[in-house]
Amino acid sequence: MSAADLDSYVRAVPDFPKPGILFRDITPLLNDAGAFATAIDCFAGLIEPYRVQGLVAIESRGFIFGAALAHHMHLPLLLVRKPGKLPRRTVSAAYELEYGMDSIEMHAEDIVSDRPYAVIDDVIATGGTAAAAAGLVEQYGGRVACCAFLIELALLKGRERLAGHAVESVLKY
Ligand code: AMP
Repeated sequence: MSAADLDSYVRAVPDFPKPGILFRDITPLLNDAGAFATAIDCFAGLIEPYRVQGLVAIESRGFIFGAALAHHMHLPLLLVRKPGKLPRRTVSAAYELEYGMDSIEMHAEDIVSDRPYAVIDDVIATGGTAAAAAGLVEQYGGRVACCAFLIELALLKGRERLAGHAVESVLKY
């Protein structure tokens, strides 16, 4: 199986979670061991050239790929979580949604100064979430060597929000 074959394991669901959103459902891909393994191989192949020393995964579907990649690439994993989930001292970043604001948190003391990281998520849409995560890593001394996604929704121009960072994606729509 190759990256091109993965397309048939991502289902486009119209009007979820609200009217006008075309949701990219990755559960068929997770439900096929070969497709998931191929996705992780492709994902890792995109990240390897950046020689990162840590992965920063975004809640919640980013954790699925971040954890598998951390195991596959033998790298440390940091979690970017929704507010109130991390037990030690956290730092947070707010970012704009289509309507309103949201925020994310990390354990700042776990970010190692000058260490190159990859920010990981399942989907990049507007890029707001990944840009906030990358900003936190950098604010606390880490380097963001690349941002990598299973799926890039190219029309939403998330790359522009991540200007100055390398952006990689396994599948583009
Ligand atoms: P954004 O900050 O706009 O790039 O949104 C990224 C986050 O929202 C990711 O964590 C995705 O899981 C989720 N997301 C946004 N749009 C979609 C979509 N059309 N299908 C699936 N997930 C999405």
